[in-house]
Amino acid sequence: MDNCNLVWFKKDLRTFDHQPLMNACDTGKAIALYVLEDDWVSSKEFSQHQAQFLRDSLIELSDSLATLNIPLIIKRGDMIACLNDLRRELKIKSLFSHYETGVAWTYERDKKVKQWCNENNINWREFHQFAVVRNLKSRDEWNKKRKLLIERDTFPRPTRQYNSLNVSKIKSLTVKSVFDDLLSRDLLDIQKGGRNEGINMLNSFLNDRGLNYAKNMSSPMTAYDNCSRISSHITWGTLSLSEIHNLLSKTRDKIVDSNTNLKSNWLKSLQAFESRLWWHCHFIQKLESEPSIEFKNVNAGFDGMREDSFNHAYFEAWKKGETGFPMIDACMRALIQHGWINFRMRAMLISFAAYQLWLHWEKPANYLAKLFTDFEPGIHYSQAQMQSGVTGINAIRIYSPIKQAKDQDPTGEFIKKYCPELNGLTTQNIHEPYTMSPIEQITSGVTIGKDYPKPIVEHAPSYLSARNTVYKWKSSEKTQHLAKVVYEKHGSRKNSFFPSQKRDEFIKSS
Ligand SMILES: Cc1cc2nc3c(=O)[nH]c(=O)nc-3n(C[C@H](O)[C@H](O)[C@H](O)COP(=O)(O)OP(=O)(O)OC[C@H]3O[C@@H](n4cnc5c(N)ncnc54)[C@H](O)[C@@H]3O)c2cc1C
Repeated sequence: MDNCNLVWFKKDLRTFDHQPLMNACDTGKAIALYVLEDDWVSSKEFSQHQAQFLRDSLIELSDSLATLNIPLIIKRGDMIACLNDLRRELKIKSLFSHYETGVAWTYERDKKVKQWCNENNINWREFHQFAVVRNLKSRDEWNKKRKLLIERDTFPRPTRQYNSLNVSKIKSLTVKSVFDDLLSRDLLDIQKGGRNEGINMLNSFLNDRGLNYAKNMSSPMTAYDNCSRISSHITWGTLSLSEIHNLLSKTRDKIVDSNTNLKSNWLKSLQAFESRLWWHCHFIQKLESEPSIEFKNVNAGFDGMREDSFNHAYFEAWKKGETGFPMIDACMRALIQHGWINFRMRAMLISFAAYQLWLHWEKPANYLAKLFTDFEPGIHYSQAQMQSGVTGINAIRIYSPIKQAKDQDPTGEFIKKYCPELNGLTTQNIHEPYTMSPIEQITSGVTIGKDYPKPIVEHAPSYLSARNTVYKWKSSEKTQHLAKVVYEKHGSRKNSFFPSQKRDEFIKSS
């Protein structure tokens, strides 16, 4: 058999702007591989939400590779066992893939793959898909490197391969069969995966839905439509960051040159969007530089603050959306149903668990990781720690679920959609149903403690006690000293995010 270049697809399920695929095709005969790993299926983050999105995306990847005449082999099991199977059938010259900044099991697996390649004399070539730098020496350098890695031309799809290798004798599963026991018959009501859907989402956001993004991103009433909703496509790689960046720049230039009277709204929204794309890699870089963030407080000065007082009953109520605080419960139930909720509500959910319920962040973060179709460990664990107040470098932000409910869902429409047992409540009572008098409970048809839970904690005392404790720990000498170390390693540098030049010129002149 001829030598082949094996392209290992991980969370990069596209053929456009895919440097490993392009390089593999340029330097030999390419064969694509996807392994649905046992380690993932048994991991703490595995969920139906993610499996369903992945299945949609693999179907399209498989079709796209077929048009390029690149065979796709799909396997399930242990990565090294699958590679050994393949090596018996193929002469693998090189392995091509993207770098991955994942969780502990992917890190260990990558080390085994490296060793396997060394033992078998196979050259493993890894490429960047995000602006995440391995062995970054100093955070001061990061922004320059980010620019080079993201603000670049995209790589074209490879041209169709002629005389591709015959792999008919190699055992391969189909996309359908590889998920056989993993997905239930009833599909979840989550967003659809696949590159076509990703492109549609991005285009509809940049041409239409994004107009009021800056204004509407915080309320779950409007965020489902007005946020870009491309996070799962970035996580699973059906869209590339560079293509998003390029399209964003083109859209901005078009708007600057146009006569629309919506210019100012559009530019505000596009800048807010661009800054969030910047945050994406900024956060993942933290996990790359310090993988223990998945398990340990980034600032050890907070070790021992919450660990020993974990209340399992509170945790269970929070998980099910049965805390007695309508905004928390509605958001959790919406997330369970759709696999997505907006940033502000994610922050509120984890902050409520960390402060009012005084739960150490790790178990709540692992639970949310399963629910998020877009689970991205570098963003997720860093955000979970930041919103729980254990970094020492960020402002302590404790969300009040009552204030958030009044601000983001003033009429209670969202709450009633996901907590239909509260349908009979007036606008006045919907945000704090536990304040209803016995007569109000009778007239609304909602008995607190029977039809809807009593609040599991009292808001004001739990909030105050948490605030005092966290500030005390934050001001300790040890925490303050370690905060400097955390900042040096992970902190965002002043003025590190610059929006595009053309926009700045417009703002100055307008
Ligand atoms: C506790 C917590 C956990 C989170 N976990 C994840 C996660 O697992 N995966 C994930 O992609 N995002 C996570 N986020 C960040 C953010 O909530 C989501 O990226 C965003 O809600 C996704 O929706 P969107 O694509 O419509 O985002 P948009 O608001 O349209 O933003 C565009 C893109 O920018 C990036 N982005 C947006 N906000 C942030 C942010 N605060 N930090 C880093 N990148 C950002 C995402 O890639 C997003 O797709 C988390 C936030 C919190 C508070």
